[in-house]
Amino acid sequence: MSETRRPRLCCHWLHACSGCELALLNGGDLFLGLLQLVDIVHFPLLLDYKYASGAEGKPDLPAAEIGLVSGGVASKNQLEVLRTLRGQCRILVAFGTCASHGGIPALRNQWTAEQTWNTVFQEDERSCSGEFEYEKWLDRVYAIDEQVEVDLLLPGCPPRPETIVATVAALAAGHQPQLAEKSVCEHCPTVRTGTGRMSVRRFLANADYDPEAPVDSMRCLLEQGLLCMGPVTVGGCGGREMPLCIRARVPCRGCYGPVRRQGNQLLDLLNVLASKGIDHRAIVDRRSLLRFSGAHGLLKPNIREG
Ligand code: SF4
Ligand code: SF4
Ligand code: SF4
Repeated sequence: MSETRRPRLCCHWLHACSGCELALLNGGDLFLGLLQLVDIVHFPLLLDYKYASGAEGKPDLPAAEIGLVSGGVASKNQLEVLRTLRGQCRILVAFGTCASHGGIPALRNQWTAEQTWNTVFQEDERSCSGEFEYEKWLDRVYAIDEQVEVDLLLPGCPPRPETIVATVAALAAGHQPQLAEKSVCEHCPTVRTGTGRMSVRRFLANADYDPEAPVDSMRCLLEQGLLCMGPVTVGGCGGREMPLCIRARVPCRGCYGPVRRQGNQLLDLLNVLASKGIDHRAIVDRRSLLRFSGAHGLLKPNIREG
């Protein structure tokens, strides 16, 4: 009698920090339970690996039913690896906000590659430019669905461990994973009155609240003039509980990426601010609001003549 083979899981990183993979390991017992459902065939954080050079010098990565890819695409080498992963994985998941929306590395997109290269690797003596070659860079940092077809976006910086495990388990069982679709605000218990301050407060300014009182008695941070990205950020970071940053009484920074995949997150936020009576001209650096979602052409180089 032949034994049914478990789905194979391939986990790989591109322009990433390894935080997404660590989040999966942070699943603890849940992660150990996942090992009963899938066979891990590739996972650089856990297993030493070398790219054997396959046919035509392409990276030789194993075939798998499920592929988790963290990080955006910033170099020609990463693009080649991503294309190989796409060919080898039946279901390809953009794992974390860097993969789904560019994440922190895509902040680079507000300058040209040449400007970044010159500033960081040529003019800054602290950089070790010998390790990098400008010719191998792409013109900007891409989310992976800008380069290959992606089956599922699993955003978060990093995604919640329970959500990662549940997502892989659902895919292994042939089910559609259940992921949050509504905004952070929909999961937030703060008090909203529909009006706001006319001025914007600095991000590091403390919110007004009574530390002895529960969070659901605190006034909405956006209405207090703090630039909370909750209205335009997809929820899920707190699971069934309230969003993580709101729990700590600080504004959402947008680390799960936009609610509307095809929308313009910055424009949506400016609309929200206008509806609250907040003057967007008071925001010193509007583009920094897109610190987690600068791919998909949202952050373009700011090129000035001369
Ligand atoms: S999404 Fe966050 S945790 Fe994951 S690779 Fe990017 S920066 Fe790291
Ligand atoms: S704007 Fe921020 S503080 Fe206000 S409801 Fe939304 S998530 Fe909560
Ligand atoms: S509240 Fe916003 S920034 Fe904080 S963890 Fe959740 S999605 Fe990320």
